[in-house]
Amino acid sequence: MEHRFLGKTGLRVSRLCFGTLTLSPLQAALPPEEGAELLSEAYSYGINFWDTAELYANYETLRLAIKKIGELPVLATKTYAYTREDARASLEKARRELDLDLIPIFLLHEQESALTLQGHKDALDFFCEAKARGVIRAVGFSCHTVAAARAATQFEEIDVIHPIVNYKGIGIKDGTVDEMLEAIDRAAAAGIGVYGMKPLGGGHLLADVEKAIHFVKGIEQLDSFAIGIASSEELEADLHYLRGTKPPPAIAEKLAVKKRRLQIEDWCAGCGTCVQSCPQGALSLKDTAGQYRAAVDVSRCILCGYCGASCPEFCLKIF
Ligand code: SF4
Ligand code: SF4
Repeated sequence: MEHRFLGKTGLRVSRLCFGTLTLSPLQAALPPEEGAELLSEAYSYGINFWDTAELYANYETLRLAIKKIGELPVLATKTYAYTREDARASLEKARRELDLDLIPIFLLHEQESALTLQGHKDALDFFCEAKARGVIRAVGFSCHTVAAARAATQFEEIDVIHPIVNYKGIGIKDGTVDEMLEAIDRAAAAGIGVYGMKPLGGGHLLADVEKAIHFVKGIEQLDSFAIGIASSEELEADLHYLRGTKPPPAIAEKLAVKKRRLQIEDWCAGCGTCVQSCPQGALSLKDTAGQYRAAVDVSRCILCGYCGASCPEFCLKIF
């Protein structure tokens, strides 16, 4: 496994980052012990970089994996906090539930532009102070927009960004893949660590994983890229594609026919909460035989599963 420094953070990360959203209750919902086993297996192949978020509700899985491995991986988590109080609560929750004194990377979740970053300045300042105290090693944000990636260099506090990037530009909300690459280039040139999000388009590019991984691997400015992994077979296939070799045909065929989709259960009460939570504007309420229910525009949905966390009736799940 190739390792690179993540910008100027001093953190040395595997080129392949384990995206743990797939393990979480929002997606495959692996039991914590099973998820920890998979993280530990990946670690044995040199994958020492894990991406999570408070929203994913999977700190227990990561805690068990860290215990199993006996070492601290480079772990990045994210929060929607924008006040100092919320930022403090997020940091303390991560430290408590992961049983760690130090959280390597803390990110502001889903930033959209310089304006939203400015709106989160209190949280950002809190995380920078925590970094000065040695409780965090690096601070940054994740984003689905070119505008936010471009804004990274305007904030000297930003050490790391985690922008969405894949060869089809799936999920980039305000521009093209070329524009995102230009923003990534600018951030990397400024010494900001960059690790890509959703190189497989949230599952839309599963039919051509080889091409999708080859694309992100070829972006020199990406120190790493996070791929969601939910099974040993997916791990094996991703490692092959990363090395430029082919996985065993049985595994490749099985994964190529795998389709992921958002399931909306029949008992949806039509409250509309999920519509507000979707970062892609993919959900709406539709009149179905006299009753309003959530409906998804599959062309906009990136299968992140974030809407699942907002539904009070537990109606939304990625399968
Ligand atoms: S509909 Fe749900 S899974 Fe699809 S992009 Fe929106 S939040 Fe993500
Ligand atoms: S939040 Fe849940 S119950 Fe409400 S509209 Fe969405 S899917 Fe239906």
